[in-house]
Amino acid sequence: MRKPFIIANWKMHKNIEESVAFINQIKAALPQVADEEVGIAAQAVALSSMKQTAQGTSLQIIAQNAASELAGPYTGEISARSLADAGASYVMLGHLERRRLFHEDNQIINQKVRSALTTGITPIICTDDKMVQAEVNGEIHYVFDQLKGVLKGVDPAHLQKIVLSYEPSWAVGSSQTANPKVAQQGCHRIRQTVANLYGSLLADQVRILYGGSVNPQNIGTIMAQPDVDGALIGRASLRPDDFLEMVNWQ
Ligand code: PGA
Repeated sequence: MRKPFIIANWKMHKNIEESVAFINQIKAALPQVADEEVGIAAQAVALSSMKQTAQGTSLQIIAQNAASELAGPYTGEISARSLADAGASYVMLGHLERRRLFHEDNQIINQKVRSALTTGITPIICTDDKMVQAEVNGEIHYVFDQLKGVLKGVDPAHLQKIVLSYEPSWAVGSSQTANPKVAQQGCHRIRQTVANLYGSLLADQVRILYGGSVNPQNIGTIMAQPDVDGALIGRASLRPDDFLEMVNWQ
């Protein structure tokens, strides 16, 4: 049984005060962790205040990025260890905006994944629609190589913990309505690729989230897809009422 995971990705939207106020507004209404995981990915400076505010609740505090190196002369970077110290239990890696705006490639993302795992913080690895388009065009090797690239050197014991996500570039931050069929196809392709790399037992266990224009109206049909285990929500997660509505999609 794969436990559903609903994540707010606040990107660079909320400051510390707003982040704390949001958690205070939703915390009494969060579901039991046994039923569903709920997390918020926020700016690194807000994480420790958020963690304190969320004490006693099931809310997962999530970082949006981490350095590829564990420690050393990397001015301006934030290590996975410091993020864990600040209270993050997960870190999002390889988000489309990191790839597109900050030129992160599979190799860098893979280094980040491995540093996070060394530190004991669980990566949520995002992949975009190049994989699916490539596969639709018959370029299965490219699909395989992309996931293979970010998972290089990750052993099966670690893969069990890792969370993957499928976020088609045309749906992230766009006015396009998220399409449940596309969400299912993308998540299914990722699961098949994981099966090729690690075997079907692990592929059946790994959680795969969908992200891109998820909102209170469409989350139910998206979550109903057999290979979709959760949602990564940007814009629609910024208001407490909307977020709680999506957390309670069932
Ligand atoms: P969106 O963003 O929900 O605003 O499309 C999703 C994401 O970037 O994770």
